[in-house]
Amino acid sequence: QNENHDISLVKTGCIGFCKEEPIVSVSIPGKALVLLRKVHQEDAERVISLALQGDVPSDRVLCKISDWDHITGNLVYGNGFDSIPEYEEIPFFAHQKKVILRDSGLINPEDIDEYIGIGGYFAAFKALTSMEPDAIIDEVKRSGLRGRGGAGFPAGLKWEITKKAPGEEKYIVCNADEGDPGAYMNRNEMESDPHMLLEGMLIGAFAMGVHEGLIYIRAEYPLAIERLMLALDQARSYGLLGKNIFNTGFDFDIRIATGAGAFVCGESTALAASIEGKTGRPRLRPPRLTEKGVFGKPTDLNNVETWCNVPVIIAKGASWYSSIGAKGNTGTKVFSLVGKVDNVGMVEVPLGTSLHSIIYDIGNGGALGREVKAVQTGGPSGGCIPVRLFDTPVDFENLNKVGTMMGSGGLVVMDEDTNMVDIARYFINFASGESCGKCVPCREGLKHMLLILNRIVAGKGTHEDINLLKELSETVQKTSLCGLGQTAPNPVLTTMQYFLEEYDDLISPEA
Ligand code: SF4
Repeated sequence: QNENHDISLVKTGCIGFCKEEPIVSVSIPGKALVLLRKVHQEDAERVISLALQGDVPSDRVLCKISDWDHITGNLVYGNGFDSIPEYEEIPFFAHQKKVILRDSGLINPEDIDEYIGIGGYFAAFKALTSMEPDAIIDEVKRSGLRGRGGAGFPAGLKWEITKKAPGEEKYIVCNADEGDPGAYMNRNEMESDPHMLLEGMLIGAFAMGVHEGLIYIRAEYPLAIERLMLALDQARSYGLLGKNIFNTGFDFDIRIATGAGAFVCGESTALAASIEGKTGRPRLRPPRLTEKGVFGKPTDLNNVETWCNVPVIIAKGASWYSSIGAKGNTGTKVFSLVGKVDNVGMVEVPLGTSLHSIIYDIGNGGALGREVKAVQTGGPSGGCIPVRLFDTPVDFENLNKVGTMMGSGGLVVMDEDTNMVDIARYFINFASGESCGKCVPCREGLKHMLLILNRIVAGKGTHEDINLLKELSETVQKTSLCGLGQTAPNPVLTTMQYFLEEYDDLISPEA
């Protein structure tokens, strides 16, 4: 706040257009919300000049937002603002549908009043004061919401199973242990709009009759932890967590458990063990977490994005939600679009959108004008899809059909300069390093796969090595105990399926 001028400097989360960051949004009541791109310290005076006089630094302007009227009031244009492109005219934003990310980068994540000011906690109020718990579960079931952590299990059904599990003491847990290389969707959601996550968990807890929630988050996300802690304090001070929420007699609170960044702790049973203070190692299932989860009690585990979908489903209704996306794959999905793509950033699209649309319409194709060759979806558990299959709709089933998976939402683009064998080696190296070592196929199999890949990449491999690599991949996939080992060979198998010539090219003629 400046004593001479009514200007506030407010921290927001990320609006998602990483390529153009640092982005500063200048909100001019009665005029516009203008986004300025690549703003640096030396631009400060020009930014203030825009706020005071409407003096627009044209080389920095990205766009203006016309429908963002919940804070600025009704917007009136004119006075030199007409020439600024609208938000919807920027291809990166125009082809997205922002449901989860609708306020990311626009509100102050450290101020609960801003969240409440745009309708935040309305859904929780509606759910707790006017809906029966079973009706909430039914609404989530009818919305078609599927778990966004990768498996795509129907969220409402999981809630129902947890609710019906015998026992009084139960937990809900948020999996915020995002560990895929190149994936930062959950981090963005928590840093930019932490109350949305808390509100989703509050609604879920009431529906399932649970009184304690946990957010399991990796320690490598300090800002997300800091903002969540602040959001929890604020929610408690507003009576949105704690005793007798909304005078309904319902008690619920959430605490944070930090993980040490072991990738395997994203697996549900390893995550539960880690919360209990044990070594984060997977165990055989069944029993599933819904029967025997954290501290041996029935536990509903959903990831950050799944919880974040809940408030909007309750506020706008299952019919509205299920009208977005595709049959059996409703709603939107947030992706981190990274790698050798022009527009790197955080992207939200309806499920069923084609890879082509994400990579070319939103991502603007390869970085530096290079040709895109493939995209990796699903992180180290996923596969590499060649350009000729980019018409594939991004949904749980269609990605499986081409040998990969949705995963939590990482999309890593590769261009004509990328060696696909080297990519497979990178992911096997990652998975081998993250293997917990409990079962032989994963512990030893991945090590051997890495040795073979190292040989091939060094030009010392043989055709025999290629055959052995395929055989080992299939064995590790079929015989490993948990999802890490079962899916780790996917990058090898898909690069062999679609780019076998690149393996052959690395084998010397004499071998
Ligand atoms: Fe551990 Fe790998 Fe076995 Fe999973 S598959 S239990 S990560 S050794």
